[in-house]
Amino acid sequence: MSTAVQSVLLPVYPPVPVTFVEGEGVELVDATGKRYLDFGAGIAVVGLGHRHPAPLAAAHAQLDRLWHASNLFGTEPAGVLAHRLSERFGGAQAFLCNSGTEAIEAALKYARLATGKHGVVALEGSFHGRTTGALAATGQPAKREPFAPLLPGVRFARPNDVASLEAALGADTGLLLLEPMLGEGGVRPLDAPFLQAAARLAGEHGALLGLDEIQTGVGRTGTFFAFEQLGVRPDLVTLAKGLANGLPIGALLVADEAAGAFAPGHHGSTFGGNPVCCAAACAVVDAIDDELLAHVQTQGRRLQTGLAALHGVGEVRGAGLLVGAELERPAAEVAAAALELGLVVLTAGEQVLRLAPPLVVTSDQVDSALAVLEEVLS
Ligand code: PLP
Repeated sequence: MSTAVQSVLLPVYPPVPVTFVEGEGVELVDATGKRYLDFGAGIAVVGLGHRHPAPLAAAHAQLDRLWHASNLFGTEPAGVLAHRLSERFGGAQAFLCNSGTEAIEAALKYARLATGKHGVVALEGSFHGRTTGALAATGQPAKREPFAPLLPGVRFARPNDVASLEAALGADTGLLLLEPMLGEGGVRPLDAPFLQAAARLAGEHGALLGLDEIQTGVGRTGTFFAFEQLGVRPDLVTLAKGLANGLPIGALLVADEAAGAFAPGHHGSTFGGNPVCCAAACAVVDAIDDELLAHVQTQGRRLQTGLAALHGVGEVRGAGLLVGAELERPAAEVAAAALELGLVVLTAGEQVLRLAPPLVVTSDQVDSALAVLEEVLS
C-alpha cells in the first residue's frame, strides 16, 4: 500500500509491508506479482484456502439473488446456517453478527440476562476483541488500560490454574469466558482437567461457561469445535474468523440447556446474518467433514514435528493447524525475514511464531514453509 493511501487510514495497524491483490488456495500474490505461501490465512480465517470453489459459488449465487434484508424479515441462508451450527453443536440457537468481537458482546449481554449477574471471569493473556465489552474481558493490560474505565466486574485467573480460577469466581459471576487455546496470547492450549474444573465451577457459581472459539473453531484445531477434544459442553460458544472463509461473520451459539434469556428487542444487528456471508458459511460448514478434519490433524503433526527440529525453536504448542513455536529471537524479526522469502507467518506475542495455514494445506506446502523457516532461523 502506498504511503499516500496509508496517510488517509487511521494508523491503528503498523505500516504494512506488502499489499496483496490475489489469492488461490494456500498462495497469495502481491501488487508486484510476487507469490507467497500463506501460513497465516488472514489470522486463521481463510480455512478452505483463498477462492475455494464451494463458498465462492455459494456467495456468487446469493449475490445474484439477494444481498440484504433486515433482520425484521427472514432470509434463507441465515436459517440454514443456524440449523447447520445447531447440528454441529448438538442443539443450540444462534445469534448471527459480523465479527468476533460482536459475538463476544452478544455473549456478555446474554450471560447478564440469563444469570442476572454482571461479573465476568476471564484469563490472563486472553484476547476477546476490541469493542469495549470484549476489551474489558481481554486479559492484556496494555490493550485495556488506555481505554479505562471499561466494564466493571471483570476478574482474571491464570490459565490452567484451578486454584486461581476458584479465587477469581464469586457470587457476582455470570460468565466464565475462556479460549480453549489462547491464540493471541501465545498459542497456549488449556488442558482438559482445567476446562472440566471450569465447567464444574461455573455450574456451582450459577455462571454460564462461554468458550471463545473465534480462533479455534470451524475445524482449525482438528475438530469442528476445539472443546470436542476437551470433554466439556459449554453453555455459550462464539465463532467468527473461519466461518465464512473470509467474508465478515460472527455467531453466538447458546446451548439448548441455556436457552431462553433473549427476547425481541434485547439485541440485534443491521448486517448480522447477511445472506451472502451466511451462504458462504453454509458451504464452509459443509466442507468441514471428517476427512478434512483428519487432514488438519495430520498436517498439524507434520508442522509441529518439523518446527521442533529447527534451530532456535523451543517449545512447540498447539492443536491441528493452530501452532505456536517459542523462539530465541523476536518473532516479528523472523516473520519479516520469512515474508521476504515468500512465506507469510504470524506472531503471538514477542517470542512466539504462530502458524495457521488454510486447513487444506498439503504436505509439500508444509515442507516448503519449514524450509523457509529453517533458512531464516539458521
Ligand atoms: N476472540 C478471539 C479468540 C480472537 O482471536 C479474536 C480475533 O483475533 C477475537 C475474539 C476478535 O475477533 P474480531 O477481530 O473478528 O472482532
